[in-house]
Order: sequence, then C-alpha cells, then structure tokens
Amino acid sequence: MILKGKTALITGSTSGIGAACATALAREGCSIMINGFGDADTIEAQRKDLEALSGAKALWSGADMLKPDEIAAMVERCHAELGGPDILINNAGIQHVAPVDQFPLDKWDQLIAILLSAPFHAMRAALPFMKDKGWGRIISTASAHSIVASPNKSAYNAAKHGLMGLTKTAALEVAQQGITINCISPGYVWTPLIENQIPDTMRIRNMSRDEVINDVLLAAIPQKKFVMPDQIAAMALFLCRDEASAITGSNMVVDGGWTAQ
Ligand code: NAD
Repeated sequence: MILKGKTALITGSTSGIGAACATALAREGCSIMINGFGDADTIEAQRKDLEALSGAKALWSGADMLKPDEIAAMVERCHAELGGPDILINNAGIQHVAPVDQFPLDKWDQLIAILLSAPFHAMRAALPFMKDKGWGRIISTASAHSIVASPNKSAYNAAKHGLMGLTKTAALEVAQQGITINCISPGYVWTPLIENQIPDTMRIRNMSRDEVINDVLLAAIPQKKFVMPDQIAAMALFLCRDEASAITGSNMVVDGGWTAQ
C-alpha cells in the first residue's frame, strides 16, 4: 500500500473519473475526502466502500466548486479532520455546448469557475500544507481540449487551455519543494459528462445518437473507443508514486491517439 498515511482530496469524485481516482488511491491505503453532488445514500455507500478498501478514514464534502469560500473551507476541513491534503486532484467538471454567439453568459461564467478558478482556489488553499510537509501532488483533470479545440465548446476549451497554464506556473513556483503539479488530459471517457452532452449535440448538429457517438465523438479518436475511467485513475496513481517525482508542469495525455494527429 504505497499511499498509507497520505490523504487525498478529490473534487468531483462522486461520479466518473473522480470516483475511479478515489477507488484507485484508496486501494493503496490513502485516506480520501470525496466531493461532489448526488444522492445522499449513494455517496454514503461510496464513502464506506472507500474506508473498507483503504483501512483509513474517508469523508465527503458537499462544497460547491462555484464558490471560492466553500472551496477554501473544504481544504481547511480536510486538513483539520484528515491531516491533508497531501494529494489534491482537481477534477470537478461540467460541460455546455453552443456556438460562441449563442453561448449563454451564465454558462460561460459557470464553466470558467468550475474548470479553471476552482483548481486555482483549491491549490491556493492546499499548497501551504504541502510546503510544510515538503511533499505534495497536485493533479488536475484537463482534457485533450487543453491541446486542441472542437467547435461549440468555447468555455470548456478556454478553461482547459488555461488550466494547463495555471499548472505550469504553479509547478515552477514549487519545483524545489517536493511538490509536483501536473495535468492529465483524457480523450473521451465514457462518463455521465459525455452522455449528457449527446442530446444537445444531436440538436445542434441535427444528428442521431449513433451519429453523434461515431461521427462526432469517436471520429476524432484513432483507437475508435472511449478511454475508461480506470485508465485515468491509473495515471493519477502513477503521478503520486516516488518514481514520478521528476514529472512536473506536464500534461499527461491519455487520449487513444486523438492529439497525435
Ligand atoms: P462526471 O459528470 O461523471 O463527474 C463530474 C463530477 O463533478 C461529479 O462528481 C459532480 O457531482 C461534480 N460536480 C459538478 N459540478 C460541481 C460543483 N459545482 N461543485 C462540486 N462538484 C461538482 O464527469 P467526468 O467525465 O468524470 O469528468 C471529470 C473531469 O474530467 C472534468 O473536469 C472533465 O472536464 C474531465 N474530462 C472528462 C472527459 C470525458 O470524456 N468524460 C474528457 C476529458 C476531460
């Protein structure tokens, strides 16, 4: 168990990629604070499963990643109750698809807040604790859309490109303090985030569900299949290992070949 004695705070971990990361780190003995929305009983069952896997404490925070004060309080609570965070995974995310000139202003603000500002607020609050210990891992789930763009995703693409800039900057600032800061950039991973954007894309592009899956989503992917959440979690776990201590300010791409084109 390589993460025994460590604590990870994982935003947006009640579903999809974040939940897979929580499981992977708990299997290595890590104490976990999960975060995100969902059914209370389901979240409680997930929390108990994580404790059974890790043999360590797991907590849930309902902090809203739209709200900087709630993000700071979440990090403080993680420190007070679990002694961390040693590992911060910025992962919470939403999507909205619309052309720039029809993009709702409130959606622009929400996407930038959750995908770009929330990682800033979380790392701002977590870094002093990591500096004190001389050890830390910050991993942000970016996207192939931190490297390339697709139409109708202006806020998402702008935020994910920006997240990589934030990551590089912070990584340089703490390069000599035992803290690494990286992004993981998945291609399309089959999670509710992807499933939920299919109806809007069907409407905007006047396509059937199968056409959106095959001609829009998988069209960009040389491997012609979705990445699995466990494959992203395996990369996150690798970045936590001592063997990965020289990787910082990097964008670890797990995208089925998408951005190689
Ligand atoms: P998901 O919809 O399965 O999970 C999103 C999580 O974020 C959930 O736990 C949800 O409750 C939480 N969340 C949403 N709004 C929140 C808020 N305001 N405050 C707190 N938590 C909130 O999505 P996913 O596909 O697992 O996406 C996770 C991350 O991976 C996102 O940052 C996304 O941009 C990125 N990503 C996903 C894909 C993909 O294909 N699924 C590809 C590249 C990058």
